[in-house]
Amino acid sequence: MAKIKEVRCIRTRADGTWLIVKVLTDQPGLYGIGSASDHYQAGVVKAAIEEHVAPRLIGREASHIEDIWQSSYTSGYWRNGSILNTAIAGIDMALWDIKGKEAGMPVHQLLGGPCRSAVACYAHAGGNTLDELVEDVQRYIEEGWPVIRCQFGPYGGGGFIPHEQAVKPRNAWTQGPAFDDEAYLENIPKMFAHLRDKLGFGPKLTHDVHEHLKPHNAVTLAKLLEPYRLYFLEDLLSPEQVQWYRLVRQQCTTPQAMGELFVNPHEYVPLITERLIDYVRVRVSKGGGITPCRKIAALCEIFGVQTAWQEGGDNDPVNQAAAMHLDLASYSFGIQEENHFSPEELEIFPGHAEQVGGYMYANDQPGLGLDIDEEKANKLLKAERLGPKYMAEDRRADGSVVRP
Ligand SMILES: [Mg+2]
Repeated sequence: MAKIKEVRCIRTRADGTWLIVKVLTDQPGLYGIGSASDHYQAGVVKAAIEEHVAPRLIGREASHIEDIWQSSYTSGYWRNGSILNTAIAGIDMALWDIKGKEAGMPVHQLLGGPCRSAVACYAHAGGNTLDELVEDVQRYIEEGWPVIRCQFGPYGGGGFIPHEQAVKPRNAWTQGPAFDDEAYLENIPKMFAHLRDKLGFGPKLTHDVHEHLKPHNAVTLAKLLEPYRLYFLEDLLSPEQVQWYRLVRQQCTTPQAMGELFVNPHEYVPLITERLIDYVRVRVSKGGGITPCRKIAALCEIFGVQTAWQEGGDNDPVNQAAAMHLDLASYSFGIQEENHFSPEELEIFPGHAEQVGGYMYANDQPGLGLDIDEEKANKLLKAERLGPKYMAEDRRADGSVVRP
């Protein structure tokens, strides 16, 4: 059996936000790769792997995935944080990749085999005007996307009032547009009224609230959107306020998707077992890797909840592959979020998932099915673009921060 010989961290994407873990074994040519990307704290995750998680794994059996996950999880005593979860996930995915290579099977075969032929994905449509948005949605429909997310303007768009028009205090801090809950409640239902008027009820549409609303306004929005029959409403509440989903359930039937910020089972288990959400959206790497996420998928199946693992703008092709293998083998799979990769980024990962129209296809290669070209990965990285990165701050008229 193969023993772990080395754990290597590779930063790539031009801004260095992708962190790929390569676990090498004592068997010639046998290694695996995993995703430990964190758009804001890639260097911190790298240090967690190099200084804490990896050293205790050298010399251990690469095949003992469950034991390595369980013992890594408690190895720093404190647990369930986003940094440690991501660090463990990078190792975990690489070990599943190795196991697949040893077995000569793709990871979805190790998870029980496919229960669908391909993975349905949802696209991100947007526009600064309603007509622009309709046009973008139509383009995705023509390309064959089964589900389309509809956003108005920038992140949090639909809720912004220009600084000069906002009712602000006389000592207002300098800031951009003010986020206003009532403006959002006015504009987003109008956006869906327009979309349904132009496109009918055939297209499956979603919307992401990015947790911007105060909880009672979130309940109101879910109720106001009920007539437009969304596929799901995403991130209606911030992780701190998920108990409000009970009120949402009592008020309307708008399906709910939540969880891309979740890192702790105490966050998602009650929402699944009480059937308070319809789609769980944990990012595979933030949940701790394939090992815990296959258990989330199994829990979802029992309670009739579906998975919609988070991908989106800042994720990498290795995390996408891990999500895809779970999607293929999980009966509870609902829909997969799309990614945004440039051709030169994809070139780094030969064997990456194939996206054609609105479906993603796996190859038949053993393991995760993709590799990393370290030379190309290094070449893409631009040293001058490394450095601190922070989530954008949206604020209300009085200057207070809106939780993203
Ligand atoms: Mg979201």
